[in-house]
Amino acid sequence: MQRRHFLRAAGLSAAGLVAGAVQAGSGSRTRTSSTTVPPVPADTGAAGRVLVIGGGMAGTTAAKYLRLWGGQKVQVTMIERETSYVSNIMSNLVLNGGRTIAGLTYNWDRLVANYGVNRARGDVTTIDPVARRVFVGTTRYDYDRLVIAPGIAFDPIAGLDTDALRAQFPHAWQAGAQTTTLRDQLRAMPDGGTFVMTVPMAPYRCPPGPYERACVVADWLKRNKPRSKVLVLDENPGITAEPESFDRAFRQTHAGVITYVPNAVVERIDPATRTVHTAMGPFTGHVINPIPRQRAPELLYRNGLVNDANPVVGERRWVNVDAVSYEHLSAPGVHVIGDPANHGQPKAGHVANMEAKVCADAITRLLRGDVPDPSPVTNSACYSPITFETASWLTAVFRYNSTSRKMEVTQTATGAKVSGEAGIATKDNFEEMNKWFVQLMADTFS
Ligand SMILES: Cc1cc2nc3c(=O)[nH]c(=O)nc-3n(C[C@H](O)[C@H](O)[C@H](O)COP(=O)(O)OP(=O)(O)OC[C@H]3O[C@@H](n4cnc5c(N)ncnc54)[C@H](O)[C@@H]3O)c2cc1C
Repeated sequence: MQRRHFLRAAGLSAAGLVAGAVQAGSGSRTRTSSTTVPPVPADTGAAGRVLVIGGGMAGTTAAKYLRLWGGQKVQVTMIERETSYVSNIMSNLVLNGGRTIAGLTYNWDRLVANYGVNRARGDVTTIDPVARRVFVGTTRYDYDRLVIAPGIAFDPIAGLDTDALRAQFPHAWQAGAQTTTLRDQLRAMPDGGTFVMTVPMAPYRCPPGPYERACVVADWLKRNKPRSKVLVLDENPGITAEPESFDRAFRQTHAGVITYVPNAVVERIDPATRTVHTAMGPFTGHVINPIPRQRAPELLYRNGLVNDANPVVGERRWVNVDAVSYEHLSAPGVHVIGDPANHGQPKAGHVANMEAKVCADAITRLLRGDVPDPSPVTNSACYSPITFETASWLTAVFRYNSTSRKMEVTQTATGAKVSGEAGIATKDNFEEMNKWFVQLMADTFS
């Protein structure tokens, strides 16, 4: 089924944005938007100070919609440590020259100009949920509600013990300098060489992303270094997302180029011999792209906010929230959205945008003495390039379950899950992917 047909059947727009209005236009720095910006209302009955930590997909959307829906009496300050944001979404296409890092770079100027968000630059180190304040160094910010959206952190990989080695063996799972390093290594690889990549144990950021990368790299090698191979070492027992699409891509589209090895739990990397030692044996390559296991950033550990159920404290990785508002289960007034949160949905940018809107809506209601919407609905949409001109897609609709306090894939009256994947990659999907991306980034940054 084509994705737009699936969404139509599920009662969604092509952008798949359920939880809030779509702000059309472009998120790129270089393009201009002809769309009228909706005004921030003077008074919605909501009033208070909201701090947002992190200006990525989740934090930026939350800051924008808190103003748009909360109005001028909701003061929103977003604290972000970087001067600009590089989108991970589409960054695999930097590897085949289809995109550039500059073209994937966004800033927050429109958030400030259009919606009156206060932007502060800094690295938040301390959160005091009892006194309701955070610190950037010695600078103190007080809040009534706090939204934490700092993305993810990466586990160390044995053998890659220095910054120099980690830069030499880039994961490129945070788009930026590592992405261009990996692209340059690919270009410098000899024809007949092997590109070895590892897929971390789930859950991790962007479930289809590693398999998408394998396809993009294989496609580029076929056209530029046709004797080369891609080896995918997956720590998981099988493909974790879009299994039909990627199984077809690995076995048919890129047959003879991609070798897929499941259960290849990484033990260490020997940088001298470029060997990845795994539970399935050692594998040597010319370019090594190890994507590490992931967890909540240090900020959340340091401030005692990592609370997932695993009883081994060192193994706790994520933050359990109540997905009706994304409020932390034991820190009132603290909301955690985006990749570090456990909420029953995939860790992905489109979902982060959805979560942010549900959270902004809930905070707006709470700030006017109301209760959050008891049954939020979101959706996830993800496109995966399979070649330089075709893509597949994956989507699901989620509904809140008040017993688990998480989102669950919606079921139809007959019990069928409202989720689906393309199964086959097409040029139409690739074109739709580009439109979806422009719309998603405009909805977030414009
Ligand atoms: C290769 C790749 C492809 C992907 N493709 C897709 C896709 O097709 N579709 C999709 O939906 N998702 C995709 N994703 C996933 C998506 O990029 C992430 O899920 C999304 O960015 C998560 O948003 P976030 O706001 O949680 O984190 P981020 O977007 O990482 O934002 C976190 C922000 O917080 C800031 N920050 C962190 N700590 C602090 C601090 N202490 N103080 C101040 N600021 C701080 C950071 O600088 C950053 O700007 C992809 C990811 C990768 C790696």
